[in-house]
Amino acid sequence: MIHGAIIDGRTVTTADTFDVIDPGTGTVFAAVSRCGPAEIDQAVAAARTAFEQHWRHTPTADRAMICRRMADVIRAHRDELAALETMDTGKPISQAFTDVNVAARYFEYYGVTVEALFGETVLNRSDVLTYTLLEPFGVSAHIVPWNYPLQVAARTAAPALAAGNTCVVKPSEDAPLTTLRLAELALDAGFPPGVFNVVPGYGLEAGAPLAAHPGIDHLAFTGSRPVGQAVMVAAAANVVPVTLELGGKSPHLVFADFDPETAIPNIVASITEHAGQNCSAGSRLLVDASVHGAVTKALAAAFEAMRIGIGRDDPDLGPLISARHRDRVLGHIEHGRRTARLVTGGGVPDDPALTGYFVQPTIFDEVDPTSVVAQEEIFGPVLCVTTFDTDDEAIRLANGTDFGLAAGVWTRDVFRAHRMLRELRAGQVFVNNYAAAGGVELTFGGCKQSGFGQEKGFDALREYTRRKAVAMKVSERGSPE
Ligand code: NAD
Repeated sequence: MIHGAIIDGRTVTTADTFDVIDPGTGTVFAAVSRCGPAEIDQAVAAARTAFEQHWRHTPTADRAMICRRMADVIRAHRDELAALETMDTGKPISQAFTDVNVAARYFEYYGVTVEALFGETVLNRSDVLTYTLLEPFGVSAHIVPWNYPLQVAARTAAPALAAGNTCVVKPSEDAPLTTLRLAELALDAGFPPGVFNVVPGYGLEAGAPLAAHPGIDHLAFTGSRPVGQAVMVAAAANVVPVTLELGGKSPHLVFADFDPETAIPNIVASITEHAGQNCSAGSRLLVDASVHGAVTKALAAAFEAMRIGIGRDDPDLGPLISARHRDRVLGHIEHGRRTARLVTGGGVPDDPALTGYFVQPTIFDEVDPTSVVAQEEIFGPVLCVTTFDTDDEAIRLANGTDFGLAAGVWTRDVFRAHRMLRELRAGQVFVNNYAAAGGVELTFGGCKQSGFGQEKGFDALREYTRRKAVAMKVSERGSPE
């Protein structure tokens, strides 16, 4: 069976297809339509018609209700969606169930909060009624990565649709299936045809024409920094607003007064969840020299105890997304071996049963903070450890990369914690936890080269609307001036 695009409520297939591979086994399990500029044109036209003819005129309460129904439909298909996400991305099944639940929560949350989205009344003159209207942009284009397809598609589509935009979503060629399924489920939930379109294909063949399309009004990109830069250039040609959610090289700052019982499992989870293929992965460990030995030892023990396996067996660590990506990560590991001290891991697991794209959870110590492994997003289960002696040095190291997505601070000293969170250049700072409260309600976005714009939380509704200023003369009598 070929999985086609979903455009205007219909399945559209193309003559050319591409294979979807299960990263856990390296075997092909599905074929997907290889869409290009023609399908992108079709999808943008369908989204435009749906926007102009009905979605922008649909009362907010009705849009909200459809979003909430979408949450119910997603939950009703949770087993199917989680199994598909695990096959598509390789991630452990329990993490895929979390993703399904979070996707449902996005639709539920925006299906409630959009009804509280208002402009402002500006009472500055008695003869003129002045206020702001929050209006949808129109056709919103969404380019989505492979690591959290369900979560990211729902994270961007739910607020966009709730706010009255129509969408064209381009999922990653490496994991397109759950996004396509979401588009089918959206029809069941009551989104009219053309409101939520999904067009699979390669980045250059489908993503680039979508980003450069003169018919889009807004662009939400989630992915790597170099592609984000290209997408921004494409959007500039049409002067289209963009949000960029890019990569990270997020640090944990571990001070001598940290609580090991909470910190160690959180640090391990933050770099091994989905095998480190997480934009917010805590990939750098900056640790006070006085506790460095104990911390590294505890982390190494936890890494070595990890069960590696295929997603449906719910291991501690699953595979990387593709052979290409595994080789890229192994290249970084090779660099780490030459420039730092290998503590544990450092290659592929020695188990012939693991036929997919696996890499051992790896720790490098004595990492030079200027080296490539300390500066670049590896996007695998690789933790780089560097020590510090003073708080100032910890801040300097933490802020010493081009990225600014997240940071974790581990200390019992509230004065120090407060100073750190003020000094760290990161979109989100977690103190004595890592991402624990980072639910759908909390705003999310990067700074520096991790991007700009906010997803999640109430802020996202504002990101998917533009302000129109209105001044309406309502009285013959003018103001004194
Ligand atoms: P990627 O940039 O390679 O691809 C992202 C999407 O862009 C895919 O759909 C791809 O097909 C498309 N694309 C590729 N080239 C394109 C082009 N020239 N024009 C338009 N579209 C193009 O990223 P990836 O490898 O899929 O995902 C991993 C990256 O995503 C990491 O850097 C990760 O940190 C980042 N990410 C960020 C967040 C966040 O919220 N900040 C969330 C998840 C992933």
